Amino acid sequence: MEAFEKKELPKLKVGIPEALHYYRYFPFWKKILEELGAEIVLSGPTNKNIVEEGVQQGFGELCIPIKIYYGHVLKLFREYPDLDFIFVPRYVSEVKDAFFCPKFISLPDIVKILPNCPKILNFEVNVKEFPIRTAAIELGKQLGKGQTRSLEAYNTAKKYFKEYHDFLRDGAQVNHALRLVKRDLPFKLPKKQKKGDIRFLLLGHGYNIFDTYINLDFQKKLTDQGIDVITIENLPKKVFKIPVIINKKLRNYWIHEEEILQSIRYFFTEGKDEIDGVIFLISFACGPDSIISELIMRDMKVVGLPFLEIIMDEHSGEAGLLTRIESFTEMISRKKKKLQGELGKGKVS
Ligand code: SF4
Repeated sequence: MEAFEKKELPKLKVGIPEALHYYRYFPFWKKILEELGAEIVLSGPTNKNIVEEGVQQGFGELCIPIKIYYGHVLKLFREYPDLDFIFVPRYVSEVKDAFFCPKFISLPDIVKILPNCPKILNFEVNVKEFPIRTAAIELGKQLGKGQTRSLEAYNTAKKYFKEYHDFLRDGAQVNHALRLVKRDLPFKLPKKQKKGDIRFLLLGHGYNIFDTYINLDFQKKLTDQGIDVITIENLPKKVFKIPVIINKKLRNYWIHEEEILQSIRYFFTEGKDEIDGVIFLISFACGPDSIISELIMRDMKVVGLPFLEIIMDEHSGEAGLLTRIESFTEMISRKKKKLQGELGKGKVS
């Protein structure tokens, strides 16, 4: 009798733009999609062409991260005409009392109108309406998988994502961790670098602080000057458990901004001596960030912690940025030396 060979179906090719929530959720997305049998292709790091194309496509008042997202999407369309899907998740709410910025809520709608758009693979996170496992079942359905397989994939991805976050809380930098995820390598911290004398908290959305092209490799500019940098991903879980009450009239409904405010509150209290200053990277035309930056600035004045806000857009220049970092660092370094001198002479208790 002739042997009957079971044929492997070809994998469905799914494109993921390396922009926006890629910097927050890629490990989870990669795991769940691969567990569901998909082959992932990435658009690659942001570059000049991506930005130019995205800016051309996006209309004037859009924030730069969305324009960059367009650029990544168009690059995927061009380089992979055989894509079965483009993965454009819709993030509405991840916790019951906060929302994502409206741009994330409408993301699949603004992508599907682009010319030559392949099928959109949707993953809707909206815990106000349904649990995330329901979104996972729906995701599996689009890839032709049943409920059991989809839930298994979801649980595997959840577990992996937790390991990823534990690694970040152990001190790993997001870009290092993402490189390991991309290459399927185990989570391992790089060799310990010499500790700097100054330590900054770098605040901002992941796509602003970890996209090294658009922020002109900001983090490296700091570390090159011997500064230690931490980001909110490195903070303990407990920091994000207590909601921030601004006042009786004003409530913040944006999830990212809530996390930023929670981190700031931590450094005003328990973590007070852990940092020497705060830098906030903001995108030009970002509504949610511009509101909280006012609040942060006010709080910073009260506690006397140095604060630098940098607004980025597609025209940001290297020289100006470097000058601002250098003068901020210099100011803090002098202040520290002066304080240490006074402590040495017993002038400060
Ligand atoms: S939070 Fe700000 S930068 Fe991010 S997508 Fe919304 S408007 Fe743009």
